[in-house]
Amino acid sequence: MAVKERSSQTMNEWCLCCDSETEHAVSIELRTEGTNPETAHYSREPYRLTRCLGCGERRSQRMNNA
Ligand SMILES: [Zn+2]
Repeated sequence: MAVKERSSQTMNEWCLCCDSETEHAVSIELRTEGTNPETAHYSREPYRLTRCLGCGERRSQRMNNA
């Protein structure tokens, strides 16, 4: 699966690795998920990708889980 970062913005967020608030590159990505056997169709889920500019730690978080 190709992971492409689109034009990203930066935000200050807490980084567990740095144990402090650091600048993060933030971008949104749509990932296609086709592993659900109950649905014949692929679903696209928006993920929020953040990368710590201090240590390079990447995290992705599914957005529609509120
Ligand atoms: Zn960090």
